Formats: sequence, structure tokens, C-alpha cells
Amino acid sequence: MEVKLIKGDITKENVDAIVNAANHTLLGGGGVDGAIHKAAGPKLLAACKEVIKRIGSCPTGEAVLTEGYELPASYVIHTVGPVWHGGDKQETSSLASCYFKSLDLAASKGLTSIAFPNISTGVYGFPKELAAEVATYTVKQWIEETAYDSTLKEIHFVCFDDENYKWYEQKMVEQNLI
Ligand code: ADP
Repeated sequence: MEVKLIKGDITKENVDAIVNAANHTLLGGGGVDGAIHKAAGPKLLAACKEVIKRIGSCPTGEAVLTEGYELPASYVIHTVGPVWHGGDKQETSSLASCYFKSLDLAASKGLTSIAFPNISTGVYGFPKELAAEVATYTVKQWIEETAYDSTLKEIHFVCFDDENYKWYEQKMVEQNLI
């Protein structure tokens, strides 16, 4: 398994699936979600509406898959991160679930590569150091538990801002991921 740390825009990632930090409605918003919808084109929103028609809403910590349309990535995995409420509302386990379920979903589709943004660290207000720790720890756990019989060979952490990049660098070293 190759785990890479990347500084930049996730919409440019040439992987099988990029992960979107979505909300319950999958109806599009700002931040990384806005960038992904803009780059993927209007078919992505139509596909999200179809998913919502089927499931009602996407709960926190869950993940659903659509095609990637105009993106270089073939698929988008939409996951709903937790809003930070101070830390006693199961925020860390919900965030871990986003990473775990996105990886499970990618593996269940036979995908070989996936790129994650820094889920919940924008408008959802999750502290960046803790989010980086949860993300790297969870991915490490998933690799140890699941990767041996998985198609998945490459996992990218894509950081848009310097602060996230710095924390990821530190946490990935601590987790022996780089
Ligand atoms: P959330 O609501 O889950 O907090 P945001 O989109 O507000 O989602 O922010 C999540 C993270 O995505 C933030 O760290 C932000 O810097 C980052 N981000 C914003 N645009 C992009 C992009 N084009 N590529 C990768 N990451 C991005």
C-alpha cells in the first residue's frame, strides 16, 4: 500500500475515486464540495439527487458513491463528516467512520486508488490537529485490518492549506505511514 501526502486541489487528482466532504442532503455547498461539483459538472448534482431520492438523506459517518463525470477521477465517494460541537458528541468516531466507510466502499467496488480531503476541517470546525490524527490513525487501522485482500493500492491525503499539510506530515510520520 502506498500512502501519499499531497498539497493541492483534490479535483485534479488522477485516482479512481476522490472523496467529497458532503452534507446530509448531498445538494452541494461551498469548500471542497463546491469545487468538486464545479469540476465534475451538473451531472454530479443530478446523480446526488437520485441517491437522495433513494436513501432520504446521508447520515453523518456514512459514504455513498457516484460517478465522477467531468473529473479526472472515475468516481466520487460522498461522505458526511461531523460538525464539531466541542468533542463530546462522538465527533472523533464519526470522523473515523467517514474514512473507514469510504475505504470499504472503494474496496467493495474493486477500486485501486483513492484521494481524501481533510474532512470536517473547514466550515464544520473540527480541530485540524485532531482531525489529522484521526484520519491517519484510521487509515493505518484499515490498512492493517483489510488491505491484504483488497484491490486498493494507493491512498492520497490531499491538503489544501498549509496548516493541514503540516499536521498530516507530523501524524503520518508518527503512524509510520511515510
Ligand atoms: P467541511 O464542511 O467537511 O468542513 P469544507 O469543504 O468546508 O468541508 O472543508 C474541508 C477541507 O477541504 C478544508 O480543510 C478545506 O481547506 C479543504 N478544501 C477546500 N477546497 C478544496 C479543494 N479544492 N481540494 C482539496 N481540499 C479542499
